[in-house]
Amino acid sequence: MKALVKYAPGKGNVEIRDVPVREPKDDELLIKIKYCGICGTDLHIYADEFPNSPPVIMGHEYCGTVVKVGAQVRDKWQVGDRIVGELHTGACGTCYLCRAGKPHICDHKLALGSKYDGAFAEYLTLPAWLAHHLPEDIPWEVAGVTEPFAITTHSLIERGQLGQEESILITGSATMGLMSTIWASRLGIKHIIIAGTQMDVPLRFPLARELGATRVVNVQEEDLESIVKELTEGRGVDAWVECSGSPAAIASGIELVKKTGKVILIGLVGPETIPIPWNSLLYKELDLVGCFSSPPSSWEKALAVEGEEAPKLRKLVTKIIPLEAWQEGFEMLRRGQAVKILIDLEA
Ligand SMILES: [Zn+2]
Ligand SMILES: [Zn+2]
Repeated sequence: MKALVKYAPGKGNVEIRDVPVREPKDDELLIKIKYCGICGTDLHIYADEFPNSPPVIMGHEYCGTVVKVGAQVRDKWQVGDRIVGELHTGACGTCYLCRAGKPHICDHKLALGSKYDGAFAEYLTLPAWLAHHLPEDIPWEVAGVTEPFAITTHSLIERGQLGQEESILITGSATMGLMSTIWASRLGIKHIIIAGTQMDVPLRFPLARELGATRVVNVQEEDLESIVKELTEGRGVDAWVECSGSPAAIASGIELVKKTGKVILIGLVGPETIPIPWNSLLYKELDLVGCFSSPPSSWEKALAVEGEEAPKLRKLVTKIIPLEAWQEGFEMLRRGQAVKILIDLEA
C-alpha cells in the first residue's frame, strides 16, 4: 500500500513509500482509511520539532471502515463498521493513569503517527480498544475532524467544566480556537471573544463569526484589553481559553480574566520559558486548568454531539486532497490558508 513515511530523523525526510499491510493480531482491527487530517503536529514532525521515531507512517486524525477483525474482538466489531479512532497506542493499560481512564497521558504511550505507524496510508492496523463506532448521522468529512474536536471537548467540558459562563476569551483562531468557539456557542455563552493576528483575517475570522464568535479581535490592529474590559463591565472574562501558544498572548491574558475566573490551557509553547504575572494568579484566585490530548471519555462526548454540530464542523474542512498532494496541503497549513485539510486515502 502507499503511505506517507517519515523515513529518517532530521528536517524533512518525508515521502510516499510502498509499504506492506500488517495483518491484525487477535485484539486488533484492520481499517481501510477514508480520510486522515493534516495537523499542526504533522508540520512539527516534518520539521523534526516534535518527538518521532522514524521510519514511521505519519497521520493521526483518521476515520475509516473495518475490513478485518482479530479473533478476540469479534463480539464488538464487524467487517463494514465505520470507525474513528484514538492515537494512544502503546499506553500500558495498567498504570494509575490508564486505570483512571487517562491513557492519553500514560508514560508508555507511543502515539500513532509519530512513534507508531499512523494513518496517512491506505490501511491502518489498530488495537481495537482505540476504535469508536461512528454514528450514522456523522458524515465522513466531519468524522475526519473528531480527534481535534475531542481535544476541545476534553479541555472545555471535562477539564474546564464550562457551562455557566457569560463571557469567554479564546486566544488563537486556528483549529483549537475555532472548535472552542463551537463549544462556547453550544453552551450559550453570551460574549465569545476570539483573538488572532493579521494571518487570520482572510479565512479564520469570518469562519469564527459563522461558528458563533460575537467579537473577533485582530491583536495587531486592536487593543484586546480595552475591548474585553468594555464587554465585561471592566471585570474581565469569566473564562480564558489559551489556544495560541504565543508568549505575548500568554503574558497578557491573565490580566483579561476576572477575579475567580478560569484559565484553560491548550496551546503548546516552544522550548522557551514564558514569564507570567504569577502574583495575579493568586490575588485574583484564578483556576488554572492544564489540558493535553483527548482521553476515551472525551471521544464519546464529542461523538454524541458531532451529528448536531456537523454543519459547523464541516466548515472547518477547507480542502480535501489526494495523498500525492500532501506537500501542497502541508504548505497551505503552514501559511494559514487552511483550517483543516483532509487527505482522501481512497482518491
Ligand atoms: Zn492532531
Ligand atoms: Zn499506562
